[in-house]
Amino acid sequence: MNNGKFGAAVIGYGGMGSWHVRKMRQQMTDDVEFIGIYDINPVRAEAAEADGVHAFPSREALLSDDRIDFVVVATPNNFHREIVIDALAHGKHVISEKPVTTSSAELEKMIAASKQYNRIFTVHQNRRWDPDFLTIRKIYDGNMLGRIFRIESRVHGSRGVPGDWRNHKQFGGGMVLDWGIHIIDQPLTLMGDTKIKSVYAITDYITTDDCDDGFKLELKFENGLEYHAEVGTSNFIEMPRWYVLGENGSAIIRNWDLEGEIVMVSDWENRDAVPIQAGVGLTKTMAPRTDDTIRKYPLPHVENKGFDDRSEFYRNFIATLRGEETQHVTHDQQRRLIRLVEALFTSAEENKVVYFE
Ligand code: NAD
Repeated sequence: MNNGKFGAAVIGYGGMGSWHVRKMRQQMTDDVEFIGIYDINPVRAEAAEADGVHAFPSREALLSDDRIDFVVVATPNNFHREIVIDALAHGKHVISEKPVTTSSAELEKMIAASKQYNRIFTVHQNRRWDPDFLTIRKIYDGNMLGRIFRIESRVHGSRGVPGDWRNHKQFGGGMVLDWGIHIIDQPLTLMGDTKIKSVYAITDYITTDDCDDGFKLELKFENGLEYHAEVGTSNFIEMPRWYVLGENGSAIIRNWDLEGEIVMVSDWENRDAVPIQAGVGLTKTMAPRTDDTIRKYPLPHVENKGFDDRSEFYRNFIATLRGEETQHVTHDQQRRLIRLVEALFTSAEENKVVYFE
Protein backbone atom coordinates (compact mmCIF):
# COMPACT_ATOMS: atom_id res chain seq x y z
CA MET A 1 0.00 0.00 0.00
CA ASN A 2 1.35 3.38 -1.00
CA ASN A 3 -0.15 6.73 0.16
CA GLY A 4 -3.38 4.96 1.07
CA LYS A 5 -3.64 3.36 -2.37
CA PHE A 6 -3.62 -0.36 -3.11
CA GLY A 7 -1.20 -1.65 -5.74
CA ALA A 8 -3.04 -3.68 -8.37
CA ALA A 9 -2.22 -6.03 -11.22
CA VAL A 10 -4.11 -8.11 -13.78
CA ILE A 11 -3.20 -11.55 -15.11
CA GLY A 12 -4.64 -12.17 -18.58
CA TYR A 13 -4.86 -9.04 -20.73
CA GLY A 14 -7.67 -10.10 -23.07
CA GLY A 15 -11.14 -8.61 -23.43
CA MET A 16 -12.02 -8.63 -19.74
CA GLY A 17 -8.50 -8.16 -18.35
CA SER A 18 -8.11 -4.95 -20.34
CA TRP A 19 -11.58 -3.86 -19.11
CA HIS A 20 -10.39 -4.23 -15.50
CA VAL A 21 -7.22 -2.28 -16.29
CA ARG A 22 -9.21 0.57 -17.86
CA LYS A 23 -11.59 0.56 -14.92
CA MET A 24 -8.82 0.82 -12.36
CA ARG A 25 -6.80 3.37 -14.30
CA GLN A 26 -9.78 5.57 -15.17
CA GLN A 27 -12.27 5.28 -12.32
CA MET A 28 -10.37 4.10 -9.28
CA THR A 29 -7.31 6.31 -9.06
CA ASP A 30 -8.26 7.50 -5.55
CA ASP A 31 -7.85 3.97 -4.20
CA VAL A 32 -5.69 2.09 -6.66
CA GLU A 33 -2.22 2.45 -8.08
CA PHE A 34 -2.16 0.25 -11.14
CA ILE A 35 1.21 -1.52 -11.47
CA GLY A 36 0.98 -3.86 -14.47
CA ILE A 37 -0.19 -7.00 -16.20
CA TYR A 38 1.07 -10.42 -17.21
CA ASP A 39 -0.23 -12.25 -20.27
CA ILE A 40 1.17 -15.56 -21.52
CA ASN A 41 0.68 -14.41 -25.11
CA PRO A 42 3.46 -11.96 -26.17
CA VAL A 43 1.05 -10.30 -28.62
CA ARG A 44 -1.20 -9.32 -25.69
CA ALA A 45 1.82 -8.16 -23.66
CA GLU A 46 2.77 -5.90 -26.58
CA ALA A 47 -0.82 -4.66 -26.79
CA ALA A 48 -0.61 -3.73 -23.11
CA GLU A 49 2.64 -1.80 -23.62
CA ALA A 50 1.02 -0.02 -26.59
CA ASP A 51 -1.80 0.96 -24.21
CA GLY A 52 0.78 2.42 -21.80
CA VAL A 53 0.43 -0.51 -19.38
CA HIS A 54 3.54 -2.20 -17.97
CA ALA A 55 3.74 -5.90 -18.98
CA PHE A 56 5.71 -8.13 -16.60
CA PRO A 57 7.93 -10.73 -18.31
CA SER A 58 6.53 -13.59 -16.21
CA ARG A 59 3.81 -14.40 -13.70
CA GLU A 60 6.48 -14.97 -11.06
CA ALA A 61 7.91 -11.49 -11.67
CA LEU A 62 4.46 -9.96 -11.21
CA LEU A 63 3.58 -11.96 -8.11
CA SER A 64 6.97 -11.22 -6.52
CA ASP A 65 6.49 -7.45 -6.85
CA ASP A 66 5.94 -6.09 -3.32
CA ARG A 67 4.06 -3.03 -4.58
CA ILE A 68 1.16 -5.24 -5.66
CA ASP A 69 -1.52 -5.80 -3.00
CA PHE A 70 -4.18 -7.47 -5.15
CA VAL A 71 -4.41 -9.32 -8.41
CA VAL A 72 -7.32 -9.75 -10.82
CA VAL A 73 -7.27 -13.08 -12.64
CA ALA A 74 -8.87 -12.75 -16.09
CA THR A 75 -7.60 -15.77 -18.00
CA PRO A 76 -9.70 -18.53 -19.59
CA ASN A 77 -11.71 -20.36 -16.94
CA ASN A 78 -9.62 -23.52 -16.56
CA PHE A 79 -6.57 -21.51 -15.41
CA HIS A 80 -8.33 -19.63 -12.60
CA ARG A 81 -7.70 -22.20 -9.86
CA GLU A 82 -3.96 -22.56 -10.36
CA ILE A 83 -3.29 -18.83 -10.81
CA VAL A 84 -5.55 -17.77 -7.92
CA ILE A 85 -3.81 -20.19 -5.53
CA ASP A 86 -0.38 -19.07 -6.73
CA ALA A 87 -1.30 -15.41 -6.18
CA LEU A 88 -2.67 -16.12 -2.68
CA ALA A 89 0.50 -18.07 -1.84
CA HIS A 90 2.49 -14.96 -2.83
CA GLY A 91 0.49 -12.97 -0.27
CA LYS A 92 -1.79 -11.18 -2.73
CA HIS A 93 -5.52 -10.60 -2.31
CA VAL A 94 -7.34 -11.95 -5.34
CA ILE A 95 -10.36 -11.21 -7.50
CA SER A 96 -11.08 -14.09 -9.85
CA GLU A 97 -13.15 -13.57 -12.93
CA LYS A 98 -16.26 -15.71 -13.15
CA PRO A 99 -16.76 -18.64 -13.19
CA VAL A 100 -14.53 -18.95 -10.15
CA THR A 101 -13.59 -22.41 -11.40
CA THR A 102 -15.20 -25.46 -12.96
CA SER A 103 -15.83 -27.80 -9.99
CA SER A 104 -16.61 -27.76 -6.27
CA ALA A 105 -13.45 -29.75 -5.52
CA GLU A 106 -11.28 -27.07 -7.17
CA LEU A 107 -13.18 -24.29 -5.43
CA GLU A 108 -12.49 -25.86 -2.03
CA LYS A 109 -8.76 -25.76 -2.76
CA MET A 110 -9.00 -22.06 -3.61
CA ILE A 111 -10.96 -21.26 -0.45
CA ALA A 112 -8.49 -23.31 1.63
CA ALA A 113 -5.60 -21.29 0.16
CA SER A 114 -7.37 -18.03 0.97
CA LYS A 115 -7.67 -19.19 4.60
CA GLN A 116 -4.13 -20.60 4.73
CA TYR A 117 -2.50 -17.40 3.47
CA ASN A 118 -5.07 -15.15 5.16
CA ARG A 119 -5.82 -13.15 2.01
CA ILE A 120 -9.13 -11.94 0.60
CA PHE A 121 -10.39 -13.99 -2.30
CA THR A 122 -13.56 -13.03 -4.15
CA VAL A 123 -15.19 -13.35 -7.56
CA HIS A 124 -16.28 -10.74 -10.08
CA GLN A 125 -20.02 -11.55 -10.15
CA ASN A 126 -20.62 -8.07 -11.55
CA ARG A 127 -24.03 -8.80 -13.04
CA ARG A 128 -25.60 -8.74 -9.59
CA TRP A 129 -25.65 -4.98 -10.18
CA ASP A 130 -27.02 -4.95 -13.73
CA PRO A 131 -29.91 -2.43 -13.92
CA ASP A 132 -32.29 -5.01 -15.43
CA PHE A 133 -31.67 -7.39 -12.52
CA LEU A 134 -31.93 -4.58 -9.96
CA THR A 135 -35.31 -3.72 -11.50
CA ILE A 136 -36.47 -7.32 -11.03
CA ARG A 137 -35.14 -7.25 -7.48
CA LYS A 138 -37.16 -4.10 -6.78
CA ILE A 139 -40.32 -5.71 -8.19
CA TYR A 140 -39.73 -8.92 -6.21
CA ASP A 141 -38.64 -7.39 -2.90
CA GLY A 142 -41.38 -4.75 -3.12
CA ASN A 143 -44.01 -7.45 -3.73
CA MET A 144 -45.23 -5.28 -6.59
CA LEU A 145 -47.21 -7.98 -8.42
CA GLY A 146 -48.71 -9.71 -5.41
CA ARG A 147 -47.20 -13.14 -4.73
CA ILE A 148 -44.73 -13.77 -7.53
CA PHE A 149 -44.88 -17.39 -8.62
CA ARG A 150 -42.70 -17.43 -11.74
CA ILE A 151 -39.66 -15.58 -13.05
CA GLU A 152 -38.20 -16.18 -16.49
CA SER A 153 -34.73 -14.85 -17.32
CA ARG A 154 -33.36 -15.22 -20.83
CA VAL A 155 -30.24 -14.11 -22.67
CA HIS A 156 -30.39 -14.76 -26.40
CA GLY A 157 -27.95 -14.25 -29.25
CA SER A 158 -27.58 -15.74 -32.71
CA ARG A 159 -23.83 -16.02 -33.22
CA GLY A 160 -23.14 -19.41 -31.64
CA VAL A 161 -20.22 -19.57 -29.19
CA PRO A 162 -17.21 -17.35 -30.02
CA GLY A 163 -14.58 -19.40 -31.81
CA ASP A 164 -11.95 -19.01 -29.08
CA TRP A 165 -11.37 -21.00 -25.86
CA ARG A 166 -15.09 -20.65 -25.05
CA ASN A 167 -15.68 -23.41 -27.61
CA HIS A 168 -13.56 -25.99 -25.77
CA LYS A 169 -14.41 -27.96 -22.68
CA GLN A 170 -10.77 -28.24 -21.56
CA PHE A 171 -10.66 -24.44 -21.13
CA GLY A 172 -13.93 -24.37 -19.21
CA GLY A 173 -15.88 -23.30 -22.29
CA GLY A 174 -19.60 -23.41 -22.98
CA MET A 175 -22.48 -21.08 -22.22
CA VAL A 176 -23.40 -22.54 -18.82
CA LEU A 177 -20.04 -21.40 -17.46
CA ASP A 178 -20.07 -18.19 -19.48
CA TRP A 179 -23.40 -16.31 -19.40
CA GLY A 180 -25.02 -19.01 -17.32
CA ILE A 181 -22.87 -18.33 -14.30
CA HIS A 182 -24.27 -14.78 -14.16
CA ILE A 183 -27.93 -15.60 -14.67
CA ILE A 184 -27.75 -18.58 -12.29
CA ASP A 185 -26.06 -16.45 -9.62
CA GLN A 186 -28.87 -13.88 -9.85
CA PRO A 187 -31.72 -16.08 -8.48
CA LEU A 188 -29.46 -17.26 -5.66
CA THR A 189 -28.84 -13.70 -4.53
CA LEU A 190 -32.47 -12.72 -5.14
CA MET A 191 -33.83 -15.57 -3.03
CA GLY A 192 -31.17 -15.48 -0.30
CA ASP A 193 -31.61 -18.39 2.13
CA THR A 194 -34.71 -19.79 0.44
CA LYS A 195 -33.83 -23.36 -0.47
CA ILE A 196 -33.96 -24.81 -3.97
CA LYS A 197 -35.99 -28.01 -3.95
CA SER A 198 -35.36 -29.23 -7.48
CA VAL A 199 -33.31 -28.61 -10.59
CA TYR A 200 -34.07 -29.67 -14.15
CA ALA A 201 -31.95 -28.67 -17.12
CA ILE A 202 -31.46 -29.19 -20.83
CA THR A 203 -28.14 -28.28 -22.45
CA ASP A 204 -27.91 -27.51 -26.18
CA TYR A 205 -25.23 -28.46 -28.70
CA ILE A 206 -26.66 -26.83 -31.80
CA THR A 207 -23.45 -25.27 -33.12
CA THR A 208 -20.94 -27.08 -30.87
CA ASP A 209 -19.75 -30.62 -30.14
CA ASP A 210 -17.40 -30.20 -27.22
CA CYS A 211 -19.31 -27.93 -24.87
CA ASP A 212 -22.81 -26.50 -24.64
CA ASP A 213 -23.90 -23.47 -26.65
CA GLY A 214 -26.97 -22.82 -24.52
CA PHE A 215 -29.23 -24.28 -21.87
CA LYS A 216 -32.62 -24.15 -20.18
CA LEU A 217 -32.75 -24.44 -16.39
CA GLU A 218 -35.87 -24.84 -14.28
CA LEU A 219 -35.55 -24.28 -10.52
CA LYS A 220 -38.23 -24.80 -7.91
CA PHE A 221 -37.74 -22.97 -4.63
CA GLU A 222 -39.21 -24.18 -1.34
CA ASN A 223 -41.53 -21.14 -1.19
CA GLY A 224 -43.15 -22.27 -4.45
CA LEU A 225 -41.34 -19.87 -6.80
CA GLU A 226 -40.53 -21.31 -10.22
CA TYR A 227 -37.44 -19.80 -11.82
CA HIS A 228 -36.49 -20.34 -15.44
CA ALA A 229 -33.00 -19.35 -16.65
CA GLU A 230 -32.05 -19.73 -20.30
CA VAL A 231 -29.14 -18.90 -22.58
CA GLY A 232 -29.44 -19.38 -26.33
CA THR A 233 -26.94 -18.62 -29.08
CA SER A 234 -29.07 -19.66 -32.09
CA ASN A 235 -31.96 -17.27 -31.43
CA PHE A 236 -32.37 -15.03 -34.46
CA ILE A 237 -35.45 -13.58 -32.83
CA GLU A 238 -34.78 -12.97 -29.16
CA MET A 239 -37.34 -13.39 -26.43
CA PRO A 240 -37.76 -10.80 -23.66
CA ARG A 241 -34.90 -10.55 -21.18
CA TRP A 242 -37.33 -10.95 -18.22
CA TYR A 243 -40.92 -12.11 -17.79
CA VAL A 244 -42.39 -12.17 -14.28
CA LEU A 245 -45.77 -13.47 -13.16
CA GLY A 246 -47.49 -12.55 -9.90
CA GLU A 247 -50.99 -13.30 -8.65
CA ASN A 248 -52.12 -9.72 -9.37
CA GLY A 249 -50.01 -8.77 -12.35
CA SER A 250 -47.18 -9.43 -14.79
CA ALA A 251 -43.96 -7.61 -15.62
CA ILE A 252 -41.80 -7.66 -18.70
CA ILE A 253 -38.33 -6.27 -19.42
CA ARG A 254 -37.74 -6.65 -23.11
CA ASN A 255 -34.09 -5.71 -23.49
CA TRP A 256 -30.92 -4.15 -22.02
CA ASP A 257 -32.42 -0.70 -22.59
CA LEU A 258 -35.00 -1.59 -19.94
CA GLU A 259 -37.98 -1.26 -22.23
CA GLY A 260 -40.92 -2.90 -20.52
CA GLU A 261 -43.94 -2.45 -18.32
CA ILE A 262 -46.04 -3.77 -15.50
CA VAL A 263 -49.67 -4.73 -16.01
CA MET A 264 -51.82 -5.18 -12.89
CA VAL A 265 -55.37 -6.30 -12.46
CA SER A 266 -57.57 -3.45 -11.20
CA ASP A 267 -60.84 -5.31 -10.93
CA TRP A 268 -60.68 -9.02 -10.14
CA GLU A 269 -64.42 -9.19 -9.75
CA ASN A 270 -65.15 -8.10 -13.28
CA ARG A 271 -65.21 -11.54 -14.89
CA ASP A 272 -67.65 -10.92 -17.67
CA ALA A 273 -65.35 -11.77 -20.53
CA VAL A 274 -66.82 -11.78 -23.99
CA PRO A 275 -65.64 -14.80 -26.00
CA ILE A 276 -63.34 -14.03 -28.90
CA GLN A 277 -62.57 -15.88 -32.07
CA ALA A 278 -59.11 -17.51 -31.65
CA GLY A 279 -57.84 -19.61 -34.51
CA VAL A 280 -60.74 -21.74 -35.64
CA GLY A 281 -62.46 -21.69 -32.26
CA LEU A 282 -63.91 -19.46 -29.60
CA THR A 283 -62.33 -18.70 -26.22
CA LYS A 284 -63.52 -16.88 -23.15
CA THR A 285 -60.61 -17.92 -20.89
CA MET A 286 -58.00 -16.33 -23.13
CA ALA A 287 -60.00 -13.26 -24.15
CA PRO A 288 -57.81 -10.16 -23.69
CA ARG A 289 -58.67 -7.99 -20.71
CA THR A 290 -60.62 -4.81 -21.26
CA ASP A 291 -58.94 -1.54 -20.28
CA ASP A 292 -61.27 -0.98 -17.33
CA THR A 293 -59.99 -4.13 -15.54
CA ILE A 294 -56.23 -3.52 -15.78
CA ARG A 295 -53.74 -0.75 -15.04
CA LYS A 296 -50.39 -0.30 -16.75
CA TYR A 297 -47.33 1.05 -14.93
CA PRO A 298 -43.78 1.86 -15.97
CA LEU A 299 -41.00 -0.29 -14.54
CA PRO A 300 -39.63 0.97 -11.22
CA HIS A 301 -36.60 3.19 -11.62
CA VAL A 302 -33.11 2.01 -10.69
CA GLU A 303 -29.93 3.94 -11.14
CA ASN A 304 -28.18 2.92 -14.35
CA LYS A 305 -24.53 2.57 -13.41
CA GLY A 306 -22.58 2.03 -16.59
CA PHE A 307 -18.82 1.67 -17.07
CA ASP A 308 -18.22 5.30 -16.13
CA ASP A 309 -19.54 4.75 -12.65
CA ARG A 310 -17.32 3.11 -10.11
CA SER A 311 -18.89 -0.31 -9.70
CA GLU A 312 -20.47 -1.44 -6.47
CA PHE A 313 -18.37 -4.60 -6.73
CA TYR A 314 -15.11 -2.64 -6.66
CA ARG A 315 -16.35 -0.16 -4.07
CA ASN A 316 -17.08 -3.05 -1.73
CA PHE A 317 -13.82 -4.83 -2.57
CA ILE A 318 -11.74 -1.76 -1.68
CA ALA A 319 -13.77 -1.29 1.55
CA THR A 320 -13.10 -4.96 2.34
CA LEU A 321 -9.36 -4.44 1.82
CA ARG A 322 -9.54 -1.49 4.23
CA GLY A 323 -11.29 -3.75 6.78
CA GLU A 324 -14.43 -1.60 6.71
CA GLU A 325 -16.84 -4.12 5.15
CA THR A 326 -17.16 -7.81 4.43
CA GLN A 327 -17.08 -8.98 0.83
CA HIS A 328 -20.34 -8.97 -1.15
CA VAL A 329 -19.44 -12.11 -3.09
CA THR A 330 -18.78 -14.72 -0.41
CA HIS A 331 -17.22 -18.17 -0.46
CA ASP A 332 -20.47 -19.84 0.62
CA GLN A 333 -22.33 -18.15 -2.24
CA GLN A 334 -19.70 -19.46 -4.67
CA ARG A 335 -19.96 -22.96 -3.18
CA ARG A 336 -23.73 -22.96 -3.71
CA LEU A 337 -23.41 -21.55 -7.23
CA ILE A 338 -20.88 -24.13 -8.40
CA ARG A 339 -22.87 -26.96 -6.77
CA LEU A 340 -25.92 -25.74 -8.65
CA VAL A 341 -23.98 -25.72 -11.92
CA GLU A 342 -22.91 -29.30 -11.20
CA ALA A 343 -26.55 -30.23 -10.54
CA LEU A 344 -27.50 -28.56 -13.84
CA PHE A 345 -25.02 -30.73 -15.76
CA THR A 346 -26.10 -33.89 -13.93
CA SER A 347 -29.75 -33.16 -14.70
CA ALA A 348 -29.00 -32.48 -18.37
CA GLU A 349 -26.71 -35.47 -18.86
CA GLU A 350 -29.03 -37.94 -17.12
CA ASN A 351 -32.27 -36.25 -18.20
CA LYS A 352 -33.65 -36.24 -14.67
CA VAL A 353 -34.79 -33.93 -11.91
CA VAL A 354 -32.10 -33.37 -9.26
CA TYR A 355 -33.37 -32.77 -5.72
CA PHE A 356 -30.99 -30.10 -4.55
CA GLU A 357 -31.28 -28.75 -1.00
P1 NAD B 1 -9.83 -13.48 -23.67
O1 NAD B 1 -9.53 -14.69 -24.47
O2 NAD B 1 -10.21 -12.21 -24.37
O3 NAD B 1 -8.58 -13.14 -22.73
C1 NAD B 1 -7.91 -14.11 -21.99
C2 NAD B 1 -6.43 -13.69 -21.91
O4 NAD B 1 -5.76 -14.56 -21.00
C3 NAD B 1 -5.73 -13.80 -23.26
O5 NAD B 1 -5.07 -12.59 -23.57
C4 NAD B 1 -4.73 -14.94 -23.05
O6 NAD B 1 -3.53 -14.79 -23.79
C5 NAD B 1 -4.47 -14.87 -21.57
N1 NAD B 1 -4.01 -16.12 -20.96
C6 NAD B 1 -4.39 -17.38 -21.25
N2 NAD B 1 -3.77 -18.24 -20.42
C7 NAD B 1 -3.00 -17.51 -19.59
C8 NAD B 1 -2.15 -17.84 -18.52
N3 NAD B 1 -1.94 -19.12 -18.14
N4 NAD B 1 -1.48 -16.85 -17.90
C9 NAD B 1 -1.66 -15.56 -18.29
N5 NAD B 1 -2.46 -15.18 -19.30
C10 NAD B 1 -3.15 -16.15 -19.93
O7 NAD B 1 -10.98 -13.89 -22.65
P2 NAD B 1 -11.94 -12.90 -21.87
O8 NAD B 1 -13.18 -12.71 -22.60
O9 NAD B 1 -11.17 -11.68 -21.44
O10 NAD B 1 -12.27 -13.78 -20.57
C11 NAD B 1 -11.34 -13.89 -19.51
C12 NAD B 1 -12.09 -14.23 -18.24
O11 NAD B 1 -13.01 -13.17 -17.96
C13 NAD B 1 -12.93 -15.50 -18.32
O12 NAD B 1 -12.89 -16.18 -17.10
C14 NAD B 1 -14.33 -14.99 -18.61
O13 NAD B 1 -15.33 -15.87 -18.14
C15 NAD B 1 -14.32 -13.69 -17.83
N6 NAD B 1 -15.27 -12.68 -18.33
C16 NAD B 1 -16.05 -12.05 -17.44
C17 NAD B 1 -16.96 -11.09 -17.85
C18 NAD B 1 -17.80 -10.40 -16.82
O14 NAD B 1 -18.68 -9.63 -17.18
N7 NAD B 1 -17.56 -10.62 -15.54
C19 NAD B 1 -17.07 -10.78 -19.20
C20 NAD B 1 -16.24 -11.41 -20.11
C21 NAD B 1 -15.32 -12.38 -19.66
